[in-house]
Amino acid sequence: MNRTVVVVGGGYAGSLVAKALDADADVILIDPREAFVNAAASLRALTQPDWAPNAFFSFATLLERGRVLRDRAASVDPRGVTLASGERVEADYLVLATGSGYTYPAKPHHGSTSIAEQLGDLRETHQELAGTHRVLILGAGPVGLELAGEIKEVWPDKQVIVVDRTDQLLPGFLPEVQDDLRRQLDKLGVELHLGTGLTALPTIDAGRAGHVAVTTDRGDEIVADIWFRAFGVRTNTDYLADGTLTPLTEQATVPVTERLNVQGYDHVYAIGDIAALPDPKMASYAMTHAEVVVQNITAQLAGDQPGTVWSPTAERRILLPLGTHGGAGQLPTPDGAAPATAQMVYERKGADLFTAKFASRFSNPRRSINDWD
Ligand SMILES: Cc1cc2nc3c(=O)[nH]c(=O)nc-3n(C[C@H](O)[C@H](O)[C@H](O)COP(=O)(O)OP(=O)(O)OC[C@H]3O[C@@H](n4cnc5c(N)ncnc54)[C@H](O)[C@@H]3O)c2cc1C
Repeated sequence: MNRTVVVVGGGYAGSLVAKALDADADVILIDPREAFVNAAASLRALTQPDWAPNAFFSFATLLERGRVLRDRAASVDPRGVTLASGERVEADYLVLATGSGYTYPAKPHHGSTSIAEQLGDLRETHQELAGTHRVLILGAGPVGLELAGEIKEVWPDKQVIVVDRTDQLLPGFLPEVQDDLRRQLDKLGVELHLGTGLTALPTIDAGRAGHVAVTTDRGDEIVADIWFRAFGVRTNTDYLADGTLTPLTEQATVPVTERLNVQGYDHVYAIGDIAALPDPKMASYAMTHAEVVVQNITAQLAGDQPGTVWSPTAERRILLPLGTHGGAGQLPTPDGAAPATAQMVYERKGADLFTAKFASRFSNPRRSINDWD
């Protein structure tokens, strides 16, 4: 008799697990969205509406045998999942992979779950942005800077101003990478205000054209025609807050063992951004977690002991495109971390923002490898 594997959340990690186990188990994937959202593509989806559909991959094309339930987990216990609709899904194995929310447009609005709604939101914000001249971005992390690069690619004459409390770009990465990024941003004409915050947030909504007037802690006045919030990741673990399954950490992440089991349960796993691991909250790490869990559940389905363990990655990696022409990055090599050239960033990410790789996951039912880089 086939065993049932229930995967909660069909992001980078969950969709990989669901697909990899589809042939060997009865897979049920639960996600309120109609499609997998390739967040890496969402900022270009804002600036280039004709290209925007590339960021979405319908769940209908993911599984050959398994089912996708378009619903939200409301609570999870060791036997299964209670959905927001009230429906109950029993599981032999449970994989929690609900990831994190990020402010729109980096990730979709919470309430927009269909492809049409998400494309509609992006088109509307594109129209607001298109008519403006000065754009203020709060947050100089990878998301804020990628947004600056995508805006400059489409509208080189727009004035783009980025403000952040930290005084360093890409803290923790190699100084050469930081310097390269800074040089490219200067060349694009992106105006950076680092080491300072705002005395108050703009009074108009983010992503709406209008008069934006703010003052930095240093007393600089900044005027813009639209602003975007590029900070504030939120872990999607509300459905575990009742503590039925496990207590969450102070950061609202899920404590896991080295095999990525939720502590106390050999048949329940938590992976990706929600796992309480030192890994950066990035898709590449989420997919590495997914591969560990695929190995372990495959062993369990065969009646063997699961033996694959997660191991920490010593070197940090990043690919930060600035549109299709530039970008900075850092990649692991046998000799340690090394800077990536703009050409490497273009080839590995900037050219299509991984669209081809996910097209493969969502159209070839037997493929399940972590093909992030
Ligand atoms: C603009 C941007 C660019 C990025 N670029 C990169 C990059 O180049 N490289 C990289 O490694 N990382 C990148 N990241 C980070 C990456 O997006 C995240 O680390 C990644 O999404 C985490 O994957 P995940 O599988 O844990 O969850 P997610 O991809 O966040 O997926 C979670 C899924 O769970 C679903 N869900 C949520 N709550 C529930 C619930 N209660 N019930 C059922 N389903 C639920 C959601 O709808 C979603 O489909 C980027 C992030 C952003 C915002």
